[in-house]
Amino acid sequence: MSIIGYIHSFESLGAVDGPGLRFIVFMQGCPLRCLYCHNPDSWKRENANYKMTADRVYEKIAEYKNFIKNGGVTISGGEPLLQAQFCEELMKLLTKDRIETAIDTSGIISLEKSKRAIELCDLLILDIKDIDDEGAKKLTGAGIKNAQKTLEYTKEIKKRVWIRQVILEGFTLDEEKLLRLGEYLCDFENIERIELIPYHTMGVSKWEDLGLDYSLKGVKTPEVGEMDRAKEILKRFEKIKEKVR
Ligand code: SF4
Repeated sequence: MSIIGYIHSFESLGAVDGPGLRFIVFMQGCPLRCLYCHNPDSWKRENANYKMTADRVYEKIAEYKNFIKNGGVTISGGEPLLQAQFCEELMKLLTKDRIETAIDTSGIISLEKSKRAIELCDLLILDIKDIDDEGAKKLTGAGIKNAQKTLEYTKEIKKRVWIRQVILEGFTLDEEKLLRLGEYLCDFENIERIELIPYHTMGVSKWEDLGLDYSLKGVKTPEVGEMDRAKEILKRFEKIKEKVR
């Protein structure tokens, strides 16, 4: 019997979550509680807008096949690997049809549960929320060790990886942490790209709609100069300097 996927939403032609134009499947449910989450309505699995089998999702994607032929499909969230088996089923269908797949994850799900899906995808997009374990706990509710284990596994199986980090004042907009991050990422030749993303406040109204307290009120979006400086710090590392965006 096919597994039912709990899905938040779809984006038929996304241009920022992986290479080329992509169909994005946003899965519902996430065990983290990032202070800046722009989709708090995706946290609880029971609030899914769609409940569909992988076959049905594949049929929906197939309608856009011509548009995404130079890109692919990204399974994002929420936390997609919370529904790892569903991701596996969907990726098998897509791969059979030669559609490239990516998973966009925080790396919070144990490898025991997530490794098969990680092996199946063409590209893993991994958020390193904060290189400091305590900082990550404060920011997301969980530490960073599991994401590190996930990254180590991708090295072992030579999986293509894009790293992402949101740059946020009080957390990751910090020279010492960026140096630690840079040094850490030098160990991974399988990383193709490292994206630094400025913190933004676009999700705040959703927090208000859900009656949630947005604790980052007043924290500003980093300025262009601050983002350039953060990138420059990572680019000091010879092994990764060409990968930083
Ligand atoms: S991992 Fe993503 S979906 Fe989950 S709380 Fe953090 S930002 Fe929100």
